[in-house]
Amino acid sequence: MARSPETTPTLEVRALHKAFGSEPVLRGIDLSVARSEMVFVLGPSGSGKSTMLRCCNRLEEPTSGEIFIEGDRLTGPGVNLNAMRQRVGMVFQSFNLYPHLTAMGNVTLALRRVQKKSRAEAEAIAAEALDKVGLSDRARHHPGQLSGGQQQRVAIARALALKPTVMLFDEPTSALDPELVGDVLAVMRDVKAAGMTMLVVSHEMGFAREAADRVIFMDGGRIVEQGPPDQVLGAPTHDRTRAFLRRFH
Ligand code: ADP
Ligand code: MG
Repeated sequence: MARSPETTPTLEVRALHKAFGSEPVLRGIDLSVARSEMVFVLGPSGSGKSTMLRCCNRLEEPTSGEIFIEGDRLTGPGVNLNAMRQRVGMVFQSFNLYPHLTAMGNVTLALRRVQKKSRAEAEAIAAEALDKVGLSDRARHHPGQLSGGQQQRVAIARALALKPTVMLFDEPTSALDPELVGDVLAVMRDVKAAGMTMLVVSHEMGFAREAADRVIFMDGGRIVEQGPPDQVLGAPTHDRTRAFLRRFH
């Protein structure tokens, strides 16, 4: 079957189930994210948001279901995981930078080890990525010499440098002091403006209203409700969504 980028979802999740032992955590997630779309994922703690994201680059192995990146299967046997994972960038709440490497070292690591670029080529790509997140002047700093917001921007640069097809953000600003949140959201806004496809778990409601194309509300391992931000955040139809959103007023 011919695929066209206009109609093939950039990320497609079909009937995704995940259980830890006998504990079902994802109970049938169906989700398509279109090219350049930013989808926001909301939901109470323990509803399965992180597990869903982690399944999308197989940091967790789904119990059943299928995941596709631009129509290419990510799940099941015989998948070149190394190649597929490079198409799915991930940004974590806790940054996960290597403390003994500089910002430049963190961004070039996978470019050199995984993509086998030369040092010069990796550093040129990394310099461009660090520039995109506004940290050209911090390239030789170590994570310990950077603020939390700057560390998270390095983590975003590291993901961007691999030129992923889709980027997953798991509560990227939750560990930050409030005054540093805006800088990270500004970078995410730029990443979106550059056309990146993004799946974002975050409780930044203002940012969701302004930047998200769609908001999904998860509860108990299911998508309970979804729609445009104004609808889901402003006029939710499900009791559980309403109860959740009340905490943010
Ligand atoms: P959220 O990100 O929405 O807070 P998670 O996906 O982190 O939710 O967790 C969903 C449920 O799965 C929770 O009950 C959590 O305790 C459980 N869980 C997550 N990871 C594991 C794991 N590695 N082993 C066992 N249970 C887990
Ligand atoms: Mg989580």
